[in-house]
Amino acid sequence: MLIKEKRRLIILIMSILFLLSGCSKDTTLYITEENGMYTASFLAMDTVMSFSIIGINAKAKIQKAYDYIMAFDDTYSAHSQNSEVVKVNAEASNGILISDNLAQQINTALKVSIMTNGAFDITVFPLVNLWGFYDGNYTVPDSDSIEKAIKSIGYEKIKLKDNMLYLEKDTQIDLGAIAKGYAGEKTAQLLMNLGIKSGMLSLGGNMQIFGLNAYGSKWNIAIQDPNDNNAYVGIIHNTDCSIITSGSYQRYFEKDSKKYHHIIDPHTGYPAESGLISVTVIADNGAYADALSTGLFVTGLDKAIEIWKEYQDFEAVFISDNNIIYITQGLADKFTSSSESYSFEYIYR
Ligand code: ADP
Ligand code: MG
Repeated sequence: MLIKEKRRLIILIMSILFLLSGCSKDTTLYITEENGMYTASFLAMDTVMSFSIIGINAKAKIQKAYDYIMAFDDTYSAHSQNSEVVKVNAEASNGILISDNLAQQINTALKVSIMTNGAFDITVFPLVNLWGFYDGNYTVPDSDSIEKAIKSIGYEKIKLKDNMLYLEKDTQIDLGAIAKGYAGEKTAQLLMNLGIKSGMLSLGGNMQIFGLNAYGSKWNIAIQDPNDNNAYVGIIHNTDCSIITSGSYQRYFEKDSKKYHHIIDPHTGYPAESGLISVTVIADNGAYADALSTGLFVTGLDKAIEIWKEYQDFEAVFISDNNIIYITQGLADKFTSSSESYSFEYIYR
């Protein structure tokens, strides 16, 4: 059953990539049906999305979910002309009134910044830009440029009260580590409001799941093997939650045979080297899970475990660069390992 689900997803993604190769801006929607489950696949928010839902008039409703994501992308992408984020980055030093959606993302981001002592920080944008992760012009910056960019970074430079946002001069925000989680949860809410009771939404591997699958059981979500694109390390069997992974294998460039990935440690200005290569967070809230997976990737395992013990409102799977997979206690009856390349350890409170 799991293999079947996974195979279907892989075939869909491959067919989209094939159809869209050479035209990365093509956002065509592809819808297929199997066993009463409708699956929509398309490109949005710089990634491949695949939404599967079961329910009455599912085809028309999935179209609404697609429309929602397209509008969301246009409003919150740092690359779009109509983007509220672009406007905020240009104007918020004088104060600007922002939408509820943006305010909610910023509030969650600030909460996770406090939890992680600034390891997660949406003001990291000047560094992301400097390394070329914003426009694709990848470079290893010199240390002077990094020092200079670090000066404009710090979540305490964001002031938000009742949708009124102020950013200190030269401070800019980047929702890349939180927007997909937020959008996934909002899309699930939209579908539930339309009467859909079951769904598995993948926003570039960021998963939002609700209800039961076509076989009447909870969803099986595979965690990718960071060292092998075609394998997974285990399965999480769950529903009604967000399951979100941040990994150094997801986006990187190579220079002089060294890899530089897209998760930046805001304190050093360099791609985070914490000993972790993948962090998956499972939580009720999509934006929170997305931000935390990025933040805990930066803090490293020891600090991440302290945070897990303190907050008690998420579970996690950590993969270290020495091939150990750490699974938090709350997943004990939900996680099944499926790889012999790693050893598995449970973390208890
Ligand atoms: P993905 O978007 O690939 O799923 P993440 O959720 O981990 O992965 O987000 C990574 C993106 O977030 C980067 O491309 C960058 O735009 C931004 N970012 C990088 N480092 C940080 C950080 N320390 N805190 C907040 N955002 C970050
Ligand atoms: Mg994230």
